[in-house]
Amino acid sequence: KRLVILGGGESGVGTAILGKKKGYDVFVSDYGKIKENYKEVLINNGIAWEEEKHTEELILNADLVMKSPGIPEKKSTIVIKLVEKGIPVISEIEFAAPFTKALTIGITGSNGKTTTTMLTYHLLKSAGLNVALGGNIGKSFAWQVADDKYDNYVLELSSFQLDGILDFKPHIAIITNISPDHLDRYDYKYENYIASKFRITMNQTEDDYLIYDADDEAISEWLKNNKTKAQLIPFSLTKTFELGAFIKEKTMEVNIINEEEFTMETETMALEGKHNMKNAMAATSVAKLMKIRNATIRESLSNFQGVEHRLEKVLKIQNVQYINDSKATNVNATFFALDSMNTPTVWIVGGVDKGNDYNELMSLVREKVKAIICLGVDNKKIIDMFGNVVDIMIEVNTMEDAVKMAQRLSEKGDTVLLSPACASFDLFENYEDRGNQFKQAVKHL
Ligand code: ADP
Repeated sequence: KRLVILGGGESGVGTAILGKKKGYDVFVSDYGKIKENYKEVLINNGIAWEEEKHTEELILNADLVMKSPGIPEKKSTIVIKLVEKGIPVISEIEFAAPFTKALTIGITGSNGKTTTTMLTYHLLKSAGLNVALGGNIGKSFAWQVADDKYDNYVLELSSFQLDGILDFKPHIAIITNISPDHLDRYDYKYENYIASKFRITMNQTEDDYLIYDADDEAISEWLKNNKTKAQLIPFSLTKTFELGAFIKEKTMEVNIINEEEFTMETETMALEGKHNMKNAMAATSVAKLMKIRNATIRESLSNFQGVEHRLEKVLKIQNVQYINDSKATNVNATFFALDSMNTPTVWIVGGVDKGNDYNELMSLVREKVKAIICLGVDNKKIIDMFGNVVDIMIEVNTMEDAVKMAQRLSEKGDTVLLSPACASFDLFENYEDRGNQFKQAVKHL
């Protein structure tokens, strides 16, 4: 069978390796350039490839097509032609899953995927389980399935990965939360994006679990109007449950059927902030389902230091704490960042606006922010919204200037927070570049 792979990145090359191993006639086609190290892998494995073009004669004769998540299905001419011809176009996860018997844990949501995935992985690995990390993080799932050395996979799944599944189901699914994002890929309809996230549970059965944020409006609405066969495990900051996870009197409780109750004081966890308590409840629910001992979970929760670029503490200089939250590329993520600030905050914000509604941040800004430094191309909305609310509002053009200005505006006991609420493609290569430039600038102070 001919397997054509669109996109020669991590997920494309991983699929190519797996496909080749399973006897497919594999062809990789990338409209852009393929990185040198990936090219080498393809050549060493005798896999045919092309770059900077999609040759139709070599693609439209496929039996099966794996589309990398970055390629927008409705705008890509080649994908439109494939769909017209009735050739199945699937994602890497869909292709790879049938080749492993391992248990899969799939994590999706608008924010908190990476943090929850890393934390879940940390809990399982620290307990001695034979577990791998995949999906949108690190080595691709398909690549790892080619060696199939693992009993468990913790997978971060974007909505684009989920759009390309037909039969895939995770044994345990998590939906961390849903807020509008990437709507350009969903005909600007929020309900389409929500439906895409819920594909994670569409093939689940009674033996499977769906862990979800019961405080989230979009999630609650969907569950009211639709059905899943999976056993539901809610988590909440405001409600309590007989079965599920919640916070009561600064203690996190997780109750899973037939398992000993789990409790832990939130102050003894390494992660901070309400959003991270949610992530911790979700990950702990998985750990309990996997029958990990309470003492082991507690220890792991007390030593998990978080993930780079997500509310990452960089340095304290003259008693001012600098925090890098460059991964906050939407308003919801920044909401939780501001919410977790305990001292007067100098806030560096801005970038490419994704249709942001800054109103949601108004009360937090009033309460916590003493100065705003705008760093980006789309500052107007920020200035219009908060110009009269904070004492100081300044525009700068480089990260270096932003950090120097932040130092000037802060005093002992303050926090300087980079939490842009915007995409980074105006001044930076990506959010990692933005976060790294921030950290560099802080270190140079
Ligand atoms: P994702 O992989 O879904 O983008 P990350 O874990 O990388 O999520 O976090 C992205 C941003 O959202 C960071 O700024 C982080 O601090 C914030 N964040 C993390 N968890 C949550 C959550 N549960 N709710 C809202 N924001 C969150």
